Amino acid sequence: MSPKAMFPRAISPKAMRPFNFSAGPATLPESVLQRAADDMLNWHGSGMSVMEMTHRGPVYLGLFEKVMADFRRLLVLPEHYKILFMQGGATAQNALIPLNLLGENRKADYVNTGHWSTKSISEARQYGDVHVAASAESPVDCHGPSALAVTPSLGTAHNSSSRGPEGPVAIHPFSYIPPVEHWRVRPDSSYLHICGNETIGGVEFHQWPDMKSLGAPNVPLIVDMSSHILSRPMDMTQMDLAYGGAQKNLGIAGLTFVILNESLITQRVNAPLAGCPTIFDYRKVLANDSMFNTPPTYAIYLTGLLLEWIDAQGGVAEMGKRNAEKAALLYGALDASAFYQTRVAKNARSFMNVPFYLPDDRLYEPFLAGAKARGLLNLKGHKAVGGLRASIYNAMPIQGVQALVDWLNEFEKEHA
Ligand code: PMP
Repeated sequence: MSPKAMFPRAISPKAMRPFNFSAGPATLPESVLQRAADDMLNWHGSGMSVMEMTHRGPVYLGLFEKVMADFRRLLVLPEHYKILFMQGGATAQNALIPLNLLGENRKADYVNTGHWSTKSISEARQYGDVHVAASAESPVDCHGPSALAVTPSLGTAHNSSSRGPEGPVAIHPFSYIPPVEHWRVRPDSSYLHICGNETIGGVEFHQWPDMKSLGAPNVPLIVDMSSHILSRPMDMTQMDLAYGGAQKNLGIAGLTFVILNESLITQRVNAPLAGCPTIFDYRKVLANDSMFNTPPTYAIYLTGLLLEWIDAQGGVAEMGKRNAEKAALLYGALDASAFYQTRVAKNARSFMNVPFYLPDDRLYEPFLAGAKARGLLNLKGHKAVGGLRASIYNAMPIQGVQALVDWLNEFEKEHA
């Protein structure tokens, strides 16, 4: 095929760029894409593309070190926290965390808040004695002060949410965070794992559990941060390890980040379980500065552009402010309507992924078609939970959320 046939028309991104609400890989800032395009054939006068460079050469090494330094600065990481760049996505980490950190007693605790926690738990079960310290699998009534007491009488998932004076009552499984008073963490566990933001269910931790008050002061906290890393200022020292794929808030697919308290792999557990591939031994990755083998060079470069973009916008605090504004705008519109339904308890609502439902299954098709016609893409909910979902990561401008709210209002007027 001739190059012309492969690219039948000139792409004019400015004129045509839709708002992409995909959960990941997700929308990127247009200026980042433009920079990548400008750099494509000749990075910084090198005469070649970043993706053609040896990762061992001084030119690429300079770029790599800057990306690491920028990431560290934006995370406000102290020296004893290290960053590993790996591959295999968050999914690989579901195995690599137990392989690297279970140690001799092989005990690990997990909190189950949804789809991604469930996956982490089932993978870890292959390697050790896994205890579910708390689970949001049972539907509950989260209304009132004794909120979140389990009410099994509610049975399994309903297709609609009910409303109380303070908004929706969470009666669906995986629509809340179990209150910490009910968590039972084993004090001799090798770690406690939580999913910081359930990308499918739209459930987010807005503060971190305090291991001391959980009666497990020596148990390291591990957080899956795939879908909310750098979405707001976070104290990374409240956890011992955070990990995720880059393809939502940090760039493109192919790069996996692991941020860890070094003592976890030098003092607590100094060797992985037998059979852990060398390339996935955190200690080896660290000792080789994340270059035990060829790293995903282009994905790292793209993350570098993303980090520079965050800086240029005003940093992580500004991201947090914008994300709070976007979430308030969208949840505000959904709450103001009796037509749209949300299921997640208000105190656990994700600022990144907003799932919502229509009153009648027949309305999804026209909703999505109308959205598409307005340049609002990828709003279909994950097949595991159905409904609709808007992912509004760092790179989604408030104009995109406003355009979605306008469509919500218009659609409701037509169909309510
Ligand atoms: N955890 C969470 C919270 C996720 O959102 C995802 C991907 N959507 C994963 C894990 C799996 O990530 P990956 O596809 O990078 O393996």
